[in-house]
Amino acid sequence: MAKVAINLATGAIQQDELIVGIDLGTTNSLVAYVHPETRQPAAINDLGRGVLVPSVIHFPPDGSSPLVGSEAKDFLLSDPAHTIYSVKRLLGKSYRDLAGHAGELGYKVIDDDIEGLVKVRVGERFYSPIELSADILRELRQRAEHALKTPVRRAVITVPAYFNDSQRQATRDAGRLAGLEVLRIVNEPTAAALAYGLGLDPEETKTRAKTVAVYDLGGGTFDVSILRLHQGIFEVLSTHGDTWLGGDDMDRAVVNFWQEKFQLSPDFQRVPGLQQQLRLAAEMAKRYLSQHDDFTTQLLDQADNVTVVTLTRAEFDELIEPLIQRTLAACRQALADAGLVIGSQLSVASEKKGPALTTDNQQLITKLDAVLLVGGSTRVPRVYEAVSAFFGQPANNSLNPDEVVALGAAVQADILAGNRRDVLLLDVTPLTLGIETLGGLLDPIIPRNSKIPTRAGRQYTTSVDGQVNLKISVYQGERDLVSENRKLGEFVLSGIPAMPAGLPKIDVNFSLNADGILRVEAVELRSGTRQDVEIKPQYGLTDNQVEQMLMDSLTHAQQDVAARLLIEARTAAEQLLYQVGRFLTKNADLLSAAETAATEAKAAELRQTLTATARDLILQQMDALDELTRPFAERVMNESIQRAMAGKRIG
Ligand code: AMP
Repeated sequence: MAKVAINLATGAIQQDELIVGIDLGTTNSLVAYVHPETRQPAAINDLGRGVLVPSVIHFPPDGSSPLVGSEAKDFLLSDPAHTIYSVKRLLGKSYRDLAGHAGELGYKVIDDDIEGLVKVRVGERFYSPIELSADILRELRQRAEHALKTPVRRAVITVPAYFNDSQRQATRDAGRLAGLEVLRIVNEPTAAALAYGLGLDPEETKTRAKTVAVYDLGGGTFDVSILRLHQGIFEVLSTHGDTWLGGDDMDRAVVNFWQEKFQLSPDFQRVPGLQQQLRLAAEMAKRYLSQHDDFTTQLLDQADNVTVVTLTRAEFDELIEPLIQRTLAACRQALADAGLVIGSQLSVASEKKGPALTTDNQQLITKLDAVLLVGGSTRVPRVYEAVSAFFGQPANNSLNPDEVVALGAAVQADILAGNRRDVLLLDVTPLTLGIETLGGLLDPIIPRNSKIPTRAGRQYTTSVDGQVNLKISVYQGERDLVSENRKLGEFVLSGIPAMPAGLPKIDVNFSLNADGILRVEAVELRSGTRQDVEIKPQYGLTDNQVEQMLMDSLTHAQQDVAARLLIEARTAAEQLLYQVGRFLTKNADLLSAAETAATEAKAAELRQTLTATARDLILQQMDALDELTRPFAERVMNESIQRAMAGKRIG
């Protein structure tokens, strides 16, 4: 058996350069890295300003460079028209996609082209959400560079699992604009699982897949995803949520409750400063009640009248119950979409005489392998209890819920940096894998975007009588010609017993495992000849290189197809000439002189045309030669030649 081990890591490999992980959030963003010595992921806290950078950008009216983070947040109230927040909600979206939510933002979203991607107007200038996100990313990059005292050029950025291609592409573009090479866009729930160390050891999930729920309740958005981890691969089985549900709604519930219970002055609803004071007090109460049972504070109205407001944990829990129930409904839906039914829920349903939950295509499980909590709002004790009760097991909240996604992104970055050679998280092969066939063409075996692990194989044969060696060259790429693709390695299967061309049956099998290692096996079936050859793993391609290769394949598609067709015609013609030549020598006594002369003349004609690029002429002359020789060939052609003329040959 011949084997080639090839490392197909697509991430750029440069061990000495740091790659950061970035959680580009709706409310807050942060950047993390894996400490080179401790090997632990850590969020970056530059100048002691805290790890969370509010995703807010303020454009000073004097035209000076924008402020990002807490400094910008201070202008949310005083200068809302020049202060942009929640830009993640606009990424990759058209005005139509916003479905009426544009008016809820404090700044101006342009509606003149409702189909095109949205733009935001700040003063006289227009910004795309990509540019605005780039401002946040640039700030994070600068903070990382400052704190770590090293240039940062590469990053892994996370996005919600429900982001579509356009939103993912917009995120990538924002990174590029911020001067970052985005090595990978990772799903936030996948990052959370990585931060918890899940899936880092493919062995662990080799025999049994793990199923994990990630419940992410942030400031303004909620989503839940069910992930399946198998042999180092993360698959999002389902995702559900509400992009307009989060901690802000809890704050609003508290505001409304106080207004009613303590009969607050209507000014608290009208005057921006008072509105803000009330909202901040509500948020403070919420945070305080995550640790304590009672909260009390004083509110001052414009006339400096004092109102004491209070909130107990029980009151707060009651206020947020409807919000929690909405999140649980999404969890129920996500489980159903993933085809899962948790045993504990089944008994609850039957006690309540609910409808039977299982159907044929649903799998009944006793519990999930983990329930992970993400997002600041999961610090609310009632949320923790409700989620744990829903899934029938304690939720995992040992990591800081604000940081967990960025930490996971840092772990992924570390993997791409090649620092964890034992793991390689690839979900699909970025480029086609195949071998070289006659004429320098790529014969694809595993097409690009195949989910890994995967196996595929094909049978080949020899092209020359008595051929005892067969060179197998492995390539990666989308072009038809191997010369335009990337060679990964080659080996020779030797010791093939001498047989007429076309008789040996050579199975070439590719298996791409979860580690991204490609094994190529070649075996001659009739004789059982196998051979072992190892090729040293090679460094992977950067995302840019992969993209370039894909772009090239599109740009050159027509030309490639024409070249392939010409080469295929030539190869077939050469095969035919070879067979005909052999036929003439072998069967000279069976043919008349006229028959031989006519055949030789037509063969000579075809041989001459071979060097030209006239594919049609080659095909015509092949037809003519075939036509001429068929009657005699039928008389004498032996089975081996029949076989030799069918099927592909490597060389
Ligand atoms: P995120 O979008 O993940 O940054 O989440 C921010 C949300 O978490 C905001 O609504 C915060 O008010 C909320 N949050 C942060 N800390 C706490 C806490 N200790 N208790 C309750 N909510 C919190």
